[in-house]
Amino acid sequence: MNKTVESALNKQIQKEIASAYLYLSIAAYCEGKNLKGFAHWFEFQAKEEMTHAMKIYKYIYSRGGNIVLLALEQPKAKLNGPMDTLVSALEHEKYITAEINKIYKLSVEKEDYATQSFLKWFIDEQVEEEESVIELIEKLKLTGEKGGTFYMFDRELGKRE
Ligand code: MG
Repeated sequence: MNKTVESALNKQIQKEIASAYLYLSIAAYCEGKNLKGFAHWFEFQAKEEMTHAMKIYKYIYSRGGNIVLLALEQPKAKLNGPMDTLVSALEHEKYITAEINKIYKLSVEKEDYATQSFLKWFIDEQVEEEESVIELIEKLKLTGEKGGTFYMFDRELGKRE
């Protein structure tokens, strides 16, 4: 496996785990604000990010590459209410999409066809990730951040499985 591609994939493992860490910090923030549904949704999201990291981890091994686990930073999410948690998630997913695209571009340059094929799942997944958060933001704009409809929205988030 091309060493530059391998290194980029190792960095992506770090970014996926850092995503899990960020979403867990948002979940904890939501718990603190008694937004139980939001907390559940972000916990679920954190677990999904770990599965993304593991997909890349296993792929690197399947190509005979080496895993290098890089250091994680403390997640820095200064949050200000329910809308802010979703907007932060969307901004973060846009960043991840850009990073996946960069690795895809690199794998094209290095003529690594297997990695191009592998990354297609992630490219599709990012479209879904962004779409689902945008949908939630639109819904929250309609319900507002308090009152009965907001309470129902929080309950709906709590049903994610
Ligand atoms: Mg991810």
